[in-house]
Amino acid sequence: MVEPKIGLEVHVQLNTSTKLFCPCPLAGLAAAEPNSLTCPTCLGHPGSKPVLNRMAVEKGIRIALALGCALQESMYFSRKTYFYPDMSKNFQITQYEIPLGKDGGLEITDAQGRKKTIRITRIHIEEDPAKLVHAGGHLESATHVLADYNRSGVPLCEIVTAPDFQTPKETRVFLQKLRSILDYIGVFDVGAAIKADANVSIDGGSRVEIKNVTGFVEVEKALADEIMRQKWLADDGKPVERETRAWVAEKRTTLPLRKKESEEDYGYIFEPDLTRINLAVALVNKAAKGMPELPHQKFERYRREYGINSELAASIVTDLDVALLFEQLVRSQPKLAASWINILKKTLYFNGLELRQTKLSVDTFSKLLELVGKGRVTSRGGELMLRELVLDASRFDELAAKYSKSEIDIGKLAEEVLKDNKKAVADYKTGSRKALQFLVGELVKKSGGRVDARSASKELEKELG
Ligand code: ADP
Ligand code: MG
Ligand code: ZN
Repeated sequence: MVEPKIGLEVHVQLNTSTKLFCPCPLAGLAAAEPNSLTCPTCLGHPGSKPVLNRMAVEKGIRIALALGCALQESMYFSRKTYFYPDMSKNFQITQYEIPLGKDGGLEITDAQGRKKTIRITRIHIEEDPAKLVHAGGHLESATHVLADYNRSGVPLCEIVTAPDFQTPKETRVFLQKLRSILDYIGVFDVGAAIKADANVSIDGGSRVEIKNVTGFVEVEKALADEIMRQKWLADDGKPVERETRAWVAEKRTTLPLRKKESEEDYGYIFEPDLTRINLAVALVNKAAKGMPELPHQKFERYRREYGINSELAASIVTDLDVALLFEQLVRSQPKLAASWINILKKTLYFNGLELRQTKLSVDTFSKLLELVGKGRVTSRGGELMLRELVLDASRFDELAAKYSKSEIDIGKLAEEVLKDNKKAVADYKTGSRKALQFLVGELVKKSGGRVDARSASKELEKELG
């Protein structure tokens, strides 16, 4: 069997302040009353005219540059004609013949640890259609459909890959990497989901497109499910039909939507209300100037400048906030920064939190490392403090006092431990090292992490004579 072929069409919502062709705001869109953030343009009223949002073009250019795409000197928009209630003017304004960018690539690491480049065929800008709410069930079982035009006209950047993925897992790796790049270049809100249409074929057969999957874990699941379906068909000697399917996350399966129409059916025509747009050198330069250091560049630099291993470096650069925190800490705490960032990441992961959701500032974190660095708090105590700090950073002083070594009477604790563990004490007297280790563990535990193993051992040996 040949490996499956998978290609993605990724839709990223650009974080501009207004919609793509009208002044309706994007802020608060998710929580707004249905159809409250609309105007004649995004409702598609006859006579309304689109005006292109310059910021959306700038953000699109940044994406093109970050993904190594060639920019076109001039571009234009086209009308993609279709009849569906999510687009009341019966066409979507998108780019077809000349997209904003072409022929880029993004490197990922496959399951065997090999590097491979996923080719980016094109990226273009388009408007989002309205949101349809299927009331009373999924798709065919819905009793009626509601249309919310708040989303109509929201700027999207579509990123189309070549069919270069061989496993669903590779798409997740790609989407994660893409998301962190998009966050670095400031073109979308990390909170916003990435949506993708996922195309897949096996054994050189017809390709099936799974529409509108939200989030990269779902993309991976939807593809795995669809590959299984295609394999079953093949095992039964049935052909895979070229079609479009919908991923129903709740049922963890895809359902047929329609037999795939071809691009000709959309009858793309030049959008006459928007003229040709010259991507002036000035505009491109401005976007290029604002480009920050990208994740893979940070990765190389961290390895070179700070000598940290590639696994940790990769983990730090994935998250821009974490990377920026690391860069600040490494100046004052070069020895501790990397390992403590690692502890921080684990703690955040355990709590299902993003750094930006906590109130943990650089200042608080460096104060914590200072306590550990100067030996006022043990490493263990520092970790315990961090667990509480990610939930409530304002408790720093209180926690520092609680975990401070000087706050406790280690001699008294040691005495108690010896009193409570007579058997271990007797074993120790017969020369058992294990017994000492056990007592050390008990003392560290009893101190709530404020005493480290070395001091515990010293104190106990003193007490035991
Ligand atoms: P269309 O214009 O019909 O939508 P595109 O060439 O734009 O086709 O490709 C759309 C998506 O389908 C791309 O992400 C591409 O990688 C993917 N694709 C193309 N051919 C195949 C294939 N044989 N198997 C899986 N995916 C494919
Ligand atoms: Mg397409
Ligand atoms: Zn509007």
